Amino acid sequence: MQYDVVTIGGGFSGLVTACRAAELGLTAAVLEARDEDRYPCSSRYATGATNVMGLPILNAPDRLYAAILNGSGPNANPAVARAIADNGKRAIEWLVQQGAQFTSRVLRHEQPGQQVLAPVRAETAGLDWEDRGADLLMRRLEQNLNQRGSVLIRGVKVVSLAIEDGACAGVEAIRNGAPVRIASKAAVIADGGFAANPEMVAQYITPRADRVLARVGPGAKGDGIRMAEKAGAAIGGFGEFYGHIHHASAMSDARQWPYPHLDAAAEIAIVVGPDGQRFTDEGLGGVCVANAIARLPDPLSAFLVFDDAIWRAEPGLTTTVPINPAMVDAGAKLLSAPDIATLAGLARLPPDRLARSIAQYNAAIDANDFAPLAVPRTLRKHKPMPIRTPPFHAVPLCAGITGTMGGVAIDAHAQAQRRDGAPFRGLYAVGTPVAGLEGGPRAGYVGGLSKAFILGMLAAEHIASVR
Ligand SMILES: Cc1cc2nc3c(=O)[nH]c(=O)nc-3n(C[C@H](O)[C@H](O)[C@H](O)COP(=O)(O)OP(=O)(O)OC[C@H]3O[C@@H](n4cnc5c(N)ncnc54)[C@H](O)[C@@H]3O)c2cc1C
Repeated sequence: MQYDVVTIGGGFSGLVTACRAAELGLTAAVLEARDEDRYPCSSRYATGATNVMGLPILNAPDRLYAAILNGSGPNANPAVARAIADNGKRAIEWLVQQGAQFTSRVLRHEQPGQQVLAPVRAETAGLDWEDRGADLLMRRLEQNLNQRGSVLIRGVKVVSLAIEDGACAGVEAIRNGAPVRIASKAAVIADGGFAANPEMVAQYITPRADRVLARVGPGAKGDGIRMAEKAGAAIGGFGEFYGHIHHASAMSDARQWPYPHLDAAAEIAIVVGPDGQRFTDEGLGGVCVANAIARLPDPLSAFLVFDDAIWRAEPGLTTTVPINPAMVDAGAKLLSAPDIATLAGLARLPPDRLARSIAQYNAAIDANDFAPLAVPRTLRKHKPMPIRTPPFHAVPLCAGITGTMGGVAIDAHAQAQRRDGAPFRGLYAVGTPVAGLEGGPRAGYVGGLSKAFILGMLAAEHIASVR
């Protein structure tokens, strides 16, 4: 088997790269480890919102660029950030030519300027992907690939890169239980990162990898990062992840993820550790709080604590699936009590400490002065609400990892870099497993779909240009 370009993975990153390459006259093969017709992966599960650092992708490039540098701080590579910011509009236009359909609605919320893959998911707990926008687009891209004389081959698990004269010249893979070598002028790592690989999660995020939720497709095992590192590519940018806060039962109950998540409720309430005290700035949002929970000595020891007024307010605040009532309807337990001491007993938290945490938080709200709090509290879109109206509630939490951050160092064409900074001929990385865009002190998140669409397009165009 011989192609101009092979992709390691058949999510949006791999499909976009291969489709664009085939359009430019190259022969392309998407190598996908899974063998199901509609194989599960994060791309197929995606809600479909295309953002760049929380801003709609069609925003002015300079604004997007500044947002990436600001959000990811020292982790952002300006050249790669610029490439993302400058090519979002072009990527959306190209996808529309491929047959993608976009709407500006995320579930029931109209979000002016947003580009969301249509049709959008339902407002239900658990996975909901069949015939939704992402699933439809994946199938459409495969059809387009076939029409251009290229292929998606299921059941091919790439295990290593074939290196010749210092350049990547293809891959070694396992197909039908037998080793196979596939030659190509370029190989593109598009394997979706490592959230489903507990060993790598333990190495890069938390030693308690068994106590965080892989909120991703099952194939995100980090194979590409490992292969690239072994072949001499530079890797880095690890430490943070993109994710959400979930009821702890999501660890074993598939109805509790990917929705509902508790990000909106956390922003207007408090999150405490096993000592009953706040340990993180809930106002920074669900991604930061999920990272803080994952870093606890026991990531399954945190609780969201709130009152009935917050419980009733949450459905109007969240832009996704409200925990009230979806979380409870889907079988998760809400701890409720008429007073804080009883609630603390149910959650096995020290009652005095919990009562003090709530009193300090309420006092800060009353005084509109959050400076005295030992753990800072940022004010964002939604103002924190006091915890005063019985019954009082608590939810045991877990951190869900949707997308790992960090991976192969790339340049503005998504070409991998060697450890000395030189371009790695024939090797590219797109989508989740790249360094230079995300992370840093505020866990800056560029956007999974944006990285897949834009970097996939840029990699294909560069491969075609150096052929
Ligand atoms: C529930 C959910 C909702 C999301 N919603 C959004 C959203 O609204 N907006 C947004 O921007 N992002 C969203 N994301 C994130 C986004 O879906 C992903 O970042 C993006 O789809 C990743 O695409 P990918 O192609 O890089 O990886 P994936 O879609 O994970 O695909 C990687 C593929 O590679 C295959 N693979 C892995 N290893 C190998 C190997 N060794 N050989 C061959 N194949 C291999 C895997 O089987 C998999 O099919 C969401 C994610 C989830 C889970």
